[in-house]
Amino acid sequence: MTFENLNLIAPILTALQAEGYTNPTPIQQQAIPLLLEGKDLLGCAQTGTGKTAAFAIPILQHLSALPTPARGQNRIKALILTPTRELAIQIEESFKAYGKNLNMKHLVIFGGVGQKPQTDALRNGIDILVATPGRLLDLMNQGFINLNHITHFVLDEADRMLDMGFVNDVKKVIAKLPSKRQSLFFSATMAPEIIKLADTMLVNPEKVEV
Ligand code: AMP
Repeated sequence: MTFENLNLIAPILTALQAEGYTNPTPIQQQAIPLLLEGKDLLGCAQTGTGKTAAFAIPILQHLSALPTPARGQNRIKALILTPTRELAIQIEESFKAYGKNLNMKHLVIFGGVGQKPQTDALRNGIDILVATPGRLLDLMNQGFINLNHITHFVLDEADRMLDMGFVNDVKKVIAKLPSKRQSLFFSATMAPEIIKLADTMLVNPEKVEV
């Protein structure tokens, strides 16, 4: 199978070629068609399987079909929650690479650094936000971020979120999301408490395991 078989738009195909990707990985082959249809997804996959592109590509394709927001509006449409700064940076770089022909605005936020550059960037209007839970809640509580316009939500590395003690933060974020949305949940393991968390945020999910 090639990326041409996955009904992707030309600007994304060109970007994938520029990255040197020729064939989708197994999780991409399974997840991309389901996500383009708008299904919720429960993905059991580790880092290194290509899971970032599996969720980033369909999100970019969906958002590229929408009109661009007016400048200065804070209408975040896609939120990716991930446990660490390193993962957050990598995910934002993936959106940048696959979306480089799409004129999408994305931002990564994480703690341990000053918030001013992040709040300044938010004022320009952001389509796709990649965040770690603590800084996200902090900026939400200060009124810099609202999640009322989210249509796509990804919880990445859910097992690590739990291991790192972020479960309550994650639940607080989920509680602020609009109920009408597409949700994706990724974890390398599926212990009972992980499934329980997945159940709180997914509706009739398709399951993909690699
Ligand atoms: P991830 O599992 O999302 O962290 O991705 C692991 C690595 O695989 C990253 O360096 C990606 O750039 C790369 N990658 C993802 N999808 C593909 C693909 N279809 N072909 C080649 N490399 C890929």
